Amino acid sequence: MRVVFLGAPGVGKGTQADRITTQYLVAKISTGDLLREAVRRQTTLGLEAKSYMDDGKLVPDAVVIGLVREKLADPVCANGFVLDGFPRTVPQAEALGSVLNSKGLALDLVVNFEVSREDIVRRLSGRRSCQKCQATFHMDFAPPKVNEMCDRCEEPLVQRSDDRSDAIEMRLKVYDEQTAPLVRYYQERGLLLPLDGSGTANVVFQHLSQELAPYRAV
Ligand code: AMP
Repeated sequence: MRVVFLGAPGVGKGTQADRITTQYLVAKISTGDLLREAVRRQTTLGLEAKSYMDDGKLVPDAVVIGLVREKLADPVCANGFVLDGFPRTVPQAEALGSVLNSKGLALDLVVNFEVSREDIVRRLSGRRSCQKCQATFHMDFAPPKVNEMCDRCEEPLVQRSDDRSDAIEMRLKVYDEQTAPLVRYYQERGLLLPLDGSGTANVVFQHLSQELAPYRAV
């Protein structure tokens, strides 16, 4: 299974990538997670990426392409992978194609998660997480028991800096300008699978899991 999860921020790619990779025992490559980890550890890469991320802008292609190339070389990807949040630009898609091609591999499918703009904004602005245990909550759909406190650690929950309203606006603008052209790019290559992402995580997972079953490792 070699698939890409495509879609605007907040459509549920990350949640579904976690579930699919657990069910099908394939690797998850999330450039957002890798970059956030680098920021947390204050590596050179993290320090370079932070300001772009805080502003809701894309980290330069060369940086993320390097990260993904390194991950794809890892033996954990031998059984397949789900790419979550990469590629986000046409040059990234082209780089991915050539890395895979050089290994004699190709993508099986690109799933395009479709969710209305109104729902996306609601999903993103309500997200909170615990910095201690990384548990995630949503103030409307999965609220903590005590206001803005983690159920497990009782630590105050935090909002991702790029989930604040000005950064959300920028991320959606960046998506429209730089990432949306990938829908057509993969459609033209016969790889695109549009998927309704508007239901609950369980409903979306059920549909997605059926679509991906033919690509499971044997
Ligand atoms: P995400 O968690 O996928 O929404 O990513 C969070 C942030 O990380 C994005 O807003 C970008 O700043 C950066 N980022 C993640 N993936 C990429 C990518 N493929 N290309 C450029 N920047 C990225």
